[in-house]
Amino acid sequence: MYYLHKQMETLTRAELEALQLERLEETIERCMNTFFYRSRFEACGIVPKDIRTLDDLHKIPFTTKQDLRDNYPFGLAAVPMSDVVRLHSSSGTTGTPTVILHTQKDLDEWANAVARCLHMVGLRRGDVFQNSSGYGMFTGGLGFQYGAERLGMLTVPAAAGNTLRQIKFIMDFGTTALHAIPSYASRLHEVMEEVGVNPERDTKLHTLIIGAEPHSEEQRRKIERMLGVKAYNSFGMSEMCGPGVAFECKEQNGMHIWEDYYIVEIVDPVTLEPVPEGEVGELVLTTINREAMPLLRYRTRDLTRILPGECPCGRHHKRLDRMKGRSDDMMILKGVNIFPIQIETILMQFEELCTDYLITLTNEEANDLMTVEVELKEFSDDYPRLQSLTREIIHRLKDEILITPLVRLVPKGSLPKQEGKAVRVRDLRRTLI
Ligand code: ADP
Ligand code: ZN
Repeated sequence: MYYLHKQMETLTRAELEALQLERLEETIERCMNTFFYRSRFEACGIVPKDIRTLDDLHKIPFTTKQDLRDNYPFGLAAVPMSDVVRLHSSSGTTGTPTVILHTQKDLDEWANAVARCLHMVGLRRGDVFQNSSGYGMFTGGLGFQYGAERLGMLTVPAAAGNTLRQIKFIMDFGTTALHAIPSYASRLHEVMEEVGVNPERDTKLHTLIIGAEPHSEEQRRKIERMLGVKAYNSFGMSEMCGPGVAFECKEQNGMHIWEDYYIVEIVDPVTLEPVPEGEVGELVLTTINREAMPLLRYRTRDLTRILPGECPCGRHHKRLDRMKGRSDDMMILKGVNIFPIQIETILMQFEELCTDYLITLTNEEANDLMTVEVELKEFSDDYPRLQSLTREIIHRLKDEILITPLVRLVPKGSLPKQEGKAVRVRDLRRTLI
C-alpha cells in the first residue's frame, strides 16, 4: 500500500497532469448523478465532453459554500445514500454548517493522504502520535486518527482540552508527535511552565503538526522554540475531507498540495479570473479523487499563492504559501484593508511578547479605532521600559498597516482562551446613522 503512495509523491509534472485529466473526466461523469451539477452544466450550455484538457476547467462554473448550504444535507450526493458510510459537518465558524459525505473508499483515500503527510515530515511506525483536536464533527479528530493509524503509529485520541491530562499523556505514553492548533500549542506550553514540566527535558516530543487556523512564520518559530520541536504547517478544510490537503515537507517552505487529489487554481476574488503565477488570490479546488460528494471549482475563500520554483525535496506537487487568511477575515479601517496575520507577524518579532493577542475594533463618531492587546511573557513594573516597548510596537505596526493602533500590554494568561480555533478579532463597531 505505501509503495503506491511513494509513486504518487514522485510523479513528474507530465505524469501528474495526465492523471489529473483522467480523474477529472471521471469526476465530471460522477457529478452528472447530481441534479445540482446537471442543471449547472445545462444552464451554461456545456456537456462533460466539452472538458477535454485541464485548461477547459475554466468553462465550469464555481461551486460556493452557499451552494453546499442550499443543498444541505444530501443534495450533492453523487452516489446512492446507501453507499455513504460517514458524514462530517464544517465547524460553522462563518455561518450555517455544511455537510460532506464519504464512501468507504473516500475515507481510505483520506487516511492515505494524511498518512502521506505525516510520513513526509519523518514520522514512522514506532512514533507515538497524540491528537489534541476535537473529535466528532471536527475533521481534525478522526482525520488525523485514521491517517496516523494507517502509518502504523501508536495513536492517542486525547481530543481537545484538559491540558493537564494532555501533558500527563505526553509524558506517560512517550508521545513523540503532537497535533495541535497553534493557539493550543502555546496554551500547552503555558501550562507546562506552570506545573514545572520542561518539554525538552521531560518529554520525547520532537514533531508538532500545527494548522486549522492562520498563523505567521514568526509564530511557528516561537512555538518551535517553546516546545523544542519542529512544527509543520498543515492545511485542510471539511469541504475537502479535512486535514491532508496540503502539508509542509521537511524544507518548511510552503505546503505541497496533493495534486493527485485536487486541481488547484488561484483566482482574483473579485473578478474570478486567474491571477498571474505567484500572486495572492483565492484558492479554488476541484476534488478528483472523491466518490460520494465531488466538488468542482470550489471557492475556499482562503487567500494564498502558489510558490514559484521547484522544492528541493524533489516532489513536484505545487506548494501553497502560508495562508494569508480568509477573504472574510479582512478588516477595512479608514479605507485600508488589513489582515490579522499582518499584525501577528509584527507582534511575534518581539521577544518580550507571548503568542496570544486580540484585536478590537471600535468607532467613535466617524473614526475607526483599533486596539491591540498582547500578552507579556514576563511581569514587569519597569514602566519606562514598558512604555518604550509599547511605542516601538505601535511604530512597527503603523509601518505595516498604515494606521496607528492603540497597544495594551497585558499579563500572560489574561486574554480569553477558546476551546477551538482562536478568535483574533472583535469588531465592536456600530453602524453610524
Ligand atoms: P470552518 O470552516 O467552520 O472553520 P474547517 O475546520 O473546515 O471549518 O476549517 C477550514 C478552514 O480553516 C480553512 O478553510 C482555512 O480557512 C482554515 N485553515 C485550515 N488550515 C489552515 C492553515 N494551516 N493555515 C491557515 N488557515 C487554515
Ligand atoms: Zn518539498
